[in-house]
Amino acid sequence: MDHFDVIVIGGGHAGCEAVSIASRLSVRVALVTHRFDTIGAMSCNPAIGGLGKGHLVREIDAFDGLMGRVADQSGIQFRLLNRKKGPAVRGPRTQADRKLYRNAMQSEIKALENVQVIEAGCEDILIGPSGSVVGVLLDDGTKVPGGNVVLTTGTFLDGLIHIGEKKIKAGRVGEAPSIGLSRTLSRFELPLGRLKTGTPPRLDGRTIEWDRLGVQKPDDVPVPFSTMTDEISVPQIECGITRTNARTHDVIRENLNRSAMYSGQIDGVGPRYCPSVEDKIVKFGDRDGHQIFLEPEGLDDDTVYPNGISTSLPEEVQHDLVASIVGLENAEVIQPGYAIEYDYVDPRSLTPSLEINKLKGLFLAGQINGTTGYEEAGAQGLVAGLNAALTASGRSPYHFSRTSSYIGVMIDDLTTRGVSEPYRMFTSRAEYRLSIRADNADQRLTPDAIALGCVSSSRQERFAEKLSSLESGKQAYTSRSVTPKEASGFGLSVAQDGIRRNGYELLAYPNISTDDLIAIWPVLSELNHDVVEQIEIEATYSVYLDRQANDAASIRKDEDRKIPDDFSYDPIAGLSNELKQKLNQVRPANIGQASRMDGMTPSAIILLLAHLKRRSEDGVAVA
Ligand code: FAD
Repeated sequence: MDHFDVIVIGGGHAGCEAVSIASRLSVRVALVTHRFDTIGAMSCNPAIGGLGKGHLVREIDAFDGLMGRVADQSGIQFRLLNRKKGPAVRGPRTQADRKLYRNAMQSEIKALENVQVIEAGCEDILIGPSGSVVGVLLDDGTKVPGGNVVLTTGTFLDGLIHIGEKKIKAGRVGEAPSIGLSRTLSRFELPLGRLKTGTPPRLDGRTIEWDRLGVQKPDDVPVPFSTMTDEISVPQIECGITRTNARTHDVIRENLNRSAMYSGQIDGVGPRYCPSVEDKIVKFGDRDGHQIFLEPEGLDDDTVYPNGISTSLPEEVQHDLVASIVGLENAEVIQPGYAIEYDYVDPRSLTPSLEINKLKGLFLAGQINGTTGYEEAGAQGLVAGLNAALTASGRSPYHFSRTSSYIGVMIDDLTTRGVSEPYRMFTSRAEYRLSIRADNADQRLTPDAIALGCVSSSRQERFAEKLSSLESGKQAYTSRSVTPKEASGFGLSVAQDGIRRNGYELLAYPNISTDDLIAIWPVLSELNHDVVEQIEIEATYSVYLDRQANDAASIRKDEDRKIPDDFSYDPIAGLSNELKQKLNQVRPANIGQASRMDGMTPSAIILLLAHLKRRSEDGVAVA
């Protein structure tokens, strides 16, 4: 077998992004995955994006990744969530046609250069005499040589499905678990834990009484994820809305002792923000009902995903549960819901490149790191694939900062704080959310991606055009001004302080819109709508953004100060033993990471900084 620069194990959401970015960096890549036809499979909810998650998709797109483009080719109900709130917390989301998504992702993978897909299970990771990775072993005994391996095995590591009292060893429904690799990771003495997640029963849409249900409509004009998509051409559909009720709650309460989760069979912790219907009734049973969105899984697919009733109750109880709900009295269950438990690796054992601290050449991405969700997985795949390819090419790693991206927030949270439950992204996790918005992901990240060499020439051209339109658009606003008196002549309310204000400054007022300015300067109506929208957002936030940019710059200065691999915390007087122990365990790569560690105090950071500075003055190189 040929030697590969990067070997990616698993063709899920993390694996596809890892393979794609490594290929774009022109290294030789192998994708080892059980079956080609499950590439791009959505194990659970057929939807991409949402609050916080939509930001991740835009950032993947800004690095020329796949998820945004593929979602644009398969989205059947685009909605911009939080439209009425500020632009910083708006979340693009689409429900996807499961088949279209899978097909589009498979076409993207087929089209990649330098990539060989190997349909097989990976059983083991091979370590050379120097203690670093030298390849992988397949289930048929074949050895695939390669120095950088990205593991993206999702929920497959020692996966165990629970449906009531029934237990099935599986990675997800109908697919075998990955046992060999779970043993490998234990052998490497990596800190493993158990987490769990669940999925609802699937229904036959032809047996649902749609006319008795509420309706959720798509946006009138769908907003694409990718800056490379001009418009969405996939037909847009409606979803049904119904609720659980007192009868549903009784069915669940009466059978709680048979739910895998509540009968003590499952040790793993589940996602708090995506709870099972059992959890909802136990924790919030006093509510009169919980909303359920009935989401068709495709344009020519009768399967319906009832979003909101994920469960591990026995199959016959699931039938009663479904039948208790308005509109679903006669609905047929095509596939029962289930919970799945699986191994994950404590992500504090990873560097910001997502490489195992103590094992050079082994990178982990996706659900294996304790996260949940396609978007979180895809973004990690991009980080791990990028750094594996950079390492293979002898280049320095690239680390995302939490001051400029949600990807940076996630990687930093995972590698410094670890997880106690499946981690999912929220806008509230990002301190700099006013400046790291979904609408400016390309402006924040594409320049770095271009510098790294992983952006296609067509995207580079489009990005350059956008920057130039923004620049000239902004110029159109800043080059025109009025006195306060002239402004009030047009009905605008500004302080009568004699100071002239330009169009951009006026736009920063909450009560002044582009339309008000067009009344003064009709020429502004000729600007492109998207450009105007972006200028409007930037102007609205400009005061906060300037302040945030200064804060971010000073934090970044210290944050970026690297802590050398061989730095010793033990001699630092004044640091508690507990903190020394944690620092030795986590081995933060820089001050930023150290400052966000659990239990870290500002005074401890000052001590650490002082010691690092002293060490560099003593002539030991510290970047
Ligand atoms: P996956 O998409 O699972 O991909 C793993 C890939 O690795 C597969 O292609 C598999 O064939 C391959 N593989 C595994 N082991 C090997 C091996 N040894 N050799 C070769 N190939 C291998 N997310 C949410 O956000 N909310 C939810 O409510 C939710 N519920 C879920 C419920 C269930 C039952 C499941 C299974 C998943 C759920 N998810 C949910 C999670 C979502 O599916 C994952 O977060 C996402 O798919 C993770 O992406 P990944 O790339 O890490 O792994």
